[in-house]
Order: sequence, then C-alpha cells, then structure tokens
Amino acid sequence: MIIQPKTRGFICTTAHPEGCARQVQRQIDYVKGQAAIQGPRNVLVVGASTGYGLASRIVSAFASGANTIGVYFDKPAEGARTASAGWYNSAAFEAAAQEAGSKSFSIVGDAFSDEIKAQTIDLIRSELGSVDLVVYSVASPRRVHPKTGEVFSSVIKPLGDTYTNKTVNFHSGEVTEARIEPATEDEVRQTIAVMGGEDWQMWIDALREAGVLAEGATTVAYSYIGPEITHAVYREGTIGKAKNDLEATALRLNDQLSSQGGRAYVSVNKALVTQSSSAIPVVPLYISALYKVMKEKELHEGCIEQMYRLFSERLYAAQTPVDEKGLIRVDDWEMREDVQAEVEKLWAELSTENVYELSDLEGYRREFFQLFGFDTEGVDYEADVNPEVAIPNLR
Ligand code: NAD
Repeated sequence: MIIQPKTRGFICTTAHPEGCARQVQRQIDYVKGQAAIQGPRNVLVVGASTGYGLASRIVSAFASGANTIGVYFDKPAEGARTASAGWYNSAAFEAAAQEAGSKSFSIVGDAFSDEIKAQTIDLIRSELGSVDLVVYSVASPRRVHPKTGEVFSSVIKPLGDTYTNKTVNFHSGEVTEARIEPATEDEVRQTIAVMGGEDWQMWIDALREAGVLAEGATTVAYSYIGPEITHAVYREGTIGKAKNDLEATALRLNDQLSSQGGRAYVSVNKALVTQSSSAIPVVPLYISALYKVMKEKELHEGCIEQMYRLFSERLYAAQTPVDEKGLIRVDDWEMREDVQAEVEKLWAELSTENVYELSDLEGYRREFFQLFGFDTEGVDYEADVNPEVAIPNLR
C-alpha cells in the first residue's frame, strides 16, 4: 500500500509504519545519548502509545533499563485502513526494547474499564511480579464509567463568559478569531469525569488491592498550566477543572501511598504538539509562537527531552523538587519570564499575513505530520509498504 497523509480537521486518519518506527527510534537514540538513570525497574504506562506516555515508556526502558507494560487504545490495520500511529509506535518500541533486553508487553483496550485493569494486573503478576512506577498519561475525549455505564464526553470550553482569541488553521495558515461559548455545569462535570483523577485513583486502588504495586512505588500523571493567553480556555476552563481534580487526586494518593514509602505526583509539562493538543483551539497558534521563541533561545524540548528531564532531574533525583502546590514543574523553561514576554509580543502582532514569519507554524505542521509517521527523513513515501504490523508482545 502507498500511504499518504489524509487529514480531517485536526485529525490525520492514516499513519505510516516506517515513519512512526523512525520517530520512535529517534527518541530512543536521544535517550541512549544521555546518562543512564537509576530509575524504575518495572513500569506500567497507561496511555503509552503516543505523546508524553510513549516518551515516558522510552525513558523507562532505555535510560533505566526497566521492563514496561503499555496500556493504550489503538487500532491495527484493517483492509484499506492503516493502523493508528500509536499501534505502529508501540510495535517499534517493543521490538527495540526486546532487542535491548527489557521485557515489554502491550494491552490494547479501554483503560477506563474494569476488564483492562484486571487483564493488566494478571499480566503484571505473571510477568513482572509488581510495578514500582505507574505513569498515568491518558488523554481521551470520552469515558464510559466502569460502575455506572454512564458515558462522559470532555469539552474544551471557558467558564462563565464567551472566550475569543486568535487561532490558526495549521494546514492553511489562516489566522482567525476563535469564539467559544461557555460550558454548562454538566459539561464541566463530564470533563472532570473524563480527564480528572477518578480513573487514576481506580488504577492505583486496583493495583494495591491485587498486591502488584511494589512497596515504595511512585505514580505520576501529567498536567498543564500555560500562559495568560490560554487561561480562559484551558486552565480556567473545563479542562482546568479536570486538572484541578487530577492534582487533588495526586495529594490524596500521596497520603495513601506514603505509609509504604510510596509517592504520587502530578508533573506540569510543556505545551507540545500531540494528537490531543492539536484539538484545542488557540493552543496550536500559541505553540507555534512558543516554538519560535524557545528555538531561538535554544530552550526547545520535545516530549522525549521533557520526559528525560522529568525522570533524571525530578522523579529520580536525590530529592524531587516541587513547587508550593506540590507539583513537579518541567514547564519551567516555557514559563520563564523572558520566554513569555516574547511570546506575548509576537501574539499581539500575529496575523494570516505574518504567521510563518513571526511563529514556527511550519515547525508545528511538520511535527503534526510526524506524529503520524509522515514528513520524516529517510522514508520513501512513494514506496509500497505493508500496513499490517504485529506488536511483538500484545496480550
Ligand atoms: P496523546 O493523545 O499523545 O496520548 C494519549 C494516550 O492515551 C495515547 O496512548 C492513547 O492511546 C491513550 N488513550 C486514550 N484513550 C484511552 C483509553 N480509553 N484507554 C487506554 N488508552 C487511552 O496525549 P498527550 O498530549 O501525550 O497527553 C497525555 C497527558 O499529558 C494528558 O494528561 C495531557 O493533559 C498531558 N499534557 C499534555 C500537554 C501537551 O501539550 N500535549 C502538556 C502538558 C500535559
């Protein structure tokens, strides 16, 4: 099959196996070029196939030599349809991890369900005994509640007032004004149910009850704060409410785990191009301006650099530094005053006419396609490629 990108809005419906494999290898090579970390031994990553979860899994395996189990929601190729990017990423990761001598296993299915939790526990018991790090990196538009069956949808909306700000169509470069009506109370409730901490708590409870969470285990989930420009739609909007809930869950989990020497954290990460962030209005334009400034200042990081820094300088440092709210911050370079001052200056001037000059929209777009294995050096996109790729240790 000749595989080309096919986009629908901010979604790309095709993925390229060879390109995804190269993107994963690039991340592995980065980690191999860094110092080893005295980190975790057996790791469970929930939401492990793309973005921050995948990078966490790569750092665990290749900087710390850990065995990993990845849980994710991805689809294999079928007929004329390619597999999803996360499928190809995971296949490439597992092949490389095995070659490097780490055990790695995949469970594909709905992490919110009781069945997938039970299946994961069985796998931990039979293959690893226990896990000493649980990374929770799920980003999803919906969740079926495992006890009540209620279906929740998350929305990205402001609270109280209509929000207007600049946004960009990152395919055409057109800068327009996004106008988002405020959320209803029920939308807030549903967004918290999807992106808040309840499912993370359920995972940790289930692992503890089953006796497969090692003594002194660490767990971490990811959050975002970001600049004033996006506050109304992100941090002070529906998703921010969900993140507040996630952060409160970390404090609760930390209390519960600390009696056995365990720890729970939320790490606030940098804004980056991922499948989830490209769906948020305003954010792609902000990221384009941010990339421009951070690249010029030689401060730019992608998911893998962020996660390597999280593991080496935060989670597995002699002491884990946290802010006054107990949060780990690896968004520190993004939030630096000089960086934000320049982004703000650019923001005021950005328009369709100057967007490629004032921001790194081209870089944004390239990274977007790279998420799906396109626009990747060394891949012949005219060549026939087999879309059916097996994940070595799929359970
Ligand atoms: P992503 O879309 O790249 O990854 C999401 C992962 O969740 C994928 O592996 C996907 O398969 C998995 N997933 C989704 N629904 C699932 C389900 N029902 N069952 C099992 N797996 C499921 O997202 P990301 O941007 O890496 O986000 C991960 C976390 O990081 C989120 O909490 C997000 O808010 C946070 N974060 C993201 C950014 C950013 O800019 N991208 C910044 C800071 C924090």
